Amino acid sequence: MTNSKNNINKDIDDQSLINDWQQVSKQVTQACEQASRPAESVRLLAVSKTKPADMVATLAKQGQTHFGENYLQEAIEKIDALKDKPECENIVWHYIGSIQRNKTRDIAEHFDWVQTVERDIIAKRLNDQRPAEMSPLNILIQLNIDNEASKSGCLPEQLPELINTIKEYERLQLRGLMIIPAKADTDAFARTKQVFDDIKHRHPELSGWDTLSMGMSGDMTEAIANGATIVRVGTAIFGARE
Ligand SMILES: *Cc1c(COP(=O)(O)O)cnc(C)c1O
Repeated sequence: MTNSKNNINKDIDDQSLINDWQQVSKQVTQACEQASRPAESVRLLAVSKTKPADMVATLAKQGQTHFGENYLQEAIEKIDALKDKPECENIVWHYIGSIQRNKTRDIAEHFDWVQTVERDIIAKRLNDQRPAEMSPLNILIQLNIDNEASKSGCLPEQLPELINTIKEYERLQLRGLMIIPAKADTDAFARTKQVFDDIKHRHPELSGWDTLSMGMSGDMTEAIANGATIVRVGTAIFGARE
């Protein structure tokens, strides 16, 4: 009795999660249309931090493949819980939280992408610790586009040197930039796109430089209009976090 009731509740919860995910997917497609960009030029990253592994599995079954996590311990538990589920076989995990030096090994061993690299010491450790049997770890440099001392991210003036260092690491594949702009900074997306394109022109040797991660639940349409290739969406898919 209790069990079937729980099952019914779970079905209802699953359906509303799927509806919200479909709604967000549609919003991404529409933003692409408005910007005259092909729909497949933008990837939806479902940010599942604080949400249970079950919800990830539900969306994976629907075809969502890229998931983002911020908290390492929680992420590893989810990754382990899901790794033997057939519908989760193709999940691509992105680490989008801040990185402490002593956590790099766990990140290098469990993730496909790291979007929050901001200094060489972290990049070097990820490179050294990436297991040989895994493909190179995809890296985005988190750029402090607002140039605020209090914020995380590589300062714009340090970016050229960091790129030149990371591009030599064989176990890392440098893919592009990620930003979390300040709310008041209304043209951060456009400025970051400029920096991104500039680097592309200046560094023809960076064959993997193709990814610009910007835009979240509240501003994904604007980010796509300005050239985002990954939008990172949590709340609009999974609901508010505690
Ligand atoms: C939590 C988080 C997101 C998702 O934010 P929402 O507003 O819930 O869509 C995106 N990017 C980063 C880096 C985050 O930490």
